[in-house]
Amino acid sequence: MDESLTAPQFIGYVIEAEQQAKALLGSSNASIDELRIKLFGNKSEFSRLTKKIRDVIPSDRQQAGIVLNEVKRKIEKQLNDSSSVKRQASNKEFFDVTAPGIPPPVGHLHIVTQAIMEITRIFERIGFTRVRHPEVDWDWYPFESLNMPPNHPARDEWETFFIGLSDKQGQIVLTPHTSNGQVREMEKGKLPIRMINIAKCYRRQSDVSHVPMFHQFEGMYIDKGVTIGDLTGVFNFFVKNYYGPDRKIRLRPFHFQFTEPSFEVDINCGICLGKGCKLCKEGWLELGGAGMVHPVVLKNGGIDPDVYNGFAFGWGVERAYMMKSGTKLDDIRMLYGNDVRFLKQF
Ligand SMILES: [Zn+2]
Repeated sequence: MDESLTAPQFIGYVIEAEQQAKALLGSSNASIDELRIKLFGNKSEFSRLTKKIRDVIPSDRQQAGIVLNEVKRKIEKQLNDSSSVKRQASNKEFFDVTAPGIPPPVGHLHIVTQAIMEITRIFERIGFTRVRHPEVDWDWYPFESLNMPPNHPARDEWETFFIGLSDKQGQIVLTPHTSNGQVREMEKGKLPIRMINIAKCYRRQSDVSHVPMFHQFEGMYIDKGVTIGDLTGVFNFFVKNYYGPDRKIRLRPFHFQFTEPSFEVDINCGICLGKGCKLCKEGWLELGGAGMVHPVVLKNGGIDPDVYNGFAFGWGVERAYMMKSGTKLDDIRMLYGNDVRFLKQF
């Protein structure tokens, strides 16, 4: 014993030993028991330092001992922690990363979206292009331009939402029908016109066959020499493609301000094919309004009614879809109830 080491000198050796121990723990693949012998066995650095404490001068010996024990505890803890990590890893259940996962439930497009896509495709095949026009518009487009001046009683039928704004172009409304697209399309100045305008419409109504927000598809064909024969040809094409080859249409005279002559279009019942049954009563179901575009409307769109004419129709997407689905869907409000159990079956 020469008792010549000071505490700082001894602690220097301890720090060195600590760094070696950490390096060994971080890099070695040896087993826990082998590491324990290397770190704390008789020939280990910590063992050598424990014996070397007696070389520290007596007044510094206690401090040297405290530091050495602290470092040994720290390294021992690290050794135990790494041993428990290794044990957990070896106990882990077998996990097959190549096994197929659990597929998430797959939904489908909403049935109204499906109907819009199908209707669009049918009309595209005969040269109609889908267009978009505003769903919030000045009342000029859904009413005045369509030959319904302010305070005209015909406006009452549209049960319109007025949003309380107006400027010098008129009052602003939520469009109650897609017919606001008629004059807007004419204003583009391109002829002939074969448009299919599908959009949301808004009316103050709600019962088994009406909802405040619904969709219409508005067709319009403007060219030279368009006849009612063209109109029935287009309608028959749609009805046979959408409902089936044995379905047909009939026109009933009607009155609208913006068409002349005007019709209600019926299709024969899908169940009795026109003979009359419990569902349809007299063999026919009403699809919606149509007619030859009124000369005043053409003029409002900047088109000379002596040169051009055409027909237009505006039908409800939901209504058309409900007529196709038969008795499966008897309350239009179910379409917007967001009940997945109901929507799943379509
Ligand atoms: Zn029937």
